[in-house]
Amino acid sequence: MTWQLRLAHLYPDHMNIYGDRGNIIALQQRCRWRGIACEVIPVGPGATIDWSDIDIAFFGGGQDSGQALIAEDFVERQGPALRAAIDAGLVMLAICGGYQLLGHYFLTHAGQRLPGIGALDVYTVGGKERLIGNVVVDVNPDISGAAFRLVGFENHSGRTYLGASVRPLGRVLVGHGNNGEDGTEGAVYRNTIGCYLHGSLLPKNPQLADHLIAMALRRRYGNVVRLAPLNDALELKAQQTMVERMLGKGRWRASRRKINQALNA
Ligand code: GLN
Repeated sequence: MTWQLRLAHLYPDHMNIYGDRGNIIALQQRCRWRGIACEVIPVGPGATIDWSDIDIAFFGGGQDSGQALIAEDFVERQGPALRAAIDAGLVMLAICGGYQLLGHYFLTHAGQRLPGIGALDVYTVGGKERLIGNVVVDVNPDISGAAFRLVGFENHSGRTYLGASVRPLGRVLVGHGNNGEDGTEGAVYRNTIGCYLHGSLLPKNPQLADHLIAMALRRRYGNVVRLAPLNDALELKAQQTMVERMLGKGRWRASRRKINQALNA
């Protein structure tokens, strides 16, 4: 039997910065390598979609202006059915601006209140200074049953605060995360994950990509599903290099010492 997944990509023309579309490419390619059919359905302004027919939803980041253009369409056209699908266990990944719109609202730093669909119990308030830079996150092990680290890049003015019915995706070892205050990054509710990690996130972090694919397949085909392993040596090496570089370990620390010595000489 050929397994099949249907992937909905929300507002691909408005919400796609820092290569967020790479997440779709990574999911498709990792499915293709395993012989899993994967159809991508773009969901733009005015689109109608049956969310009960979707296995994975993806919503990328955007500028405040891009979010403002689609927020009303998103909340009114997709909100109730998407929220119900998320409650029912839809597998979803939302990055930055998309993450914010899954929450209750985003009050921009200019004072505009953008409504969200309230599927995630979070709210976001824009600050004057943007939170920018590379990020390393220790993922909460009970999210996928395994401990792993994520690397990514953040650039947001929004500070996101988590309510009682979500749990953080993980803790920041490097970077600002949800709000630069409480050390958390991202939010998880049922099978939906929101976070601030651009990158693209999934090509850099195959563990998370496979967690999403495995959850979606199990939801559709049951617990019998086992994902065939792929050779991720290169991806994991790149990820580890970035972690070491960010945590200042090993040769990165040594090379930084050399640079500092040279600068101070
Ligand atoms: N516009 C939002 C903010 O600045 C989201 C940014 C993004 O998606 N990178 O907080």
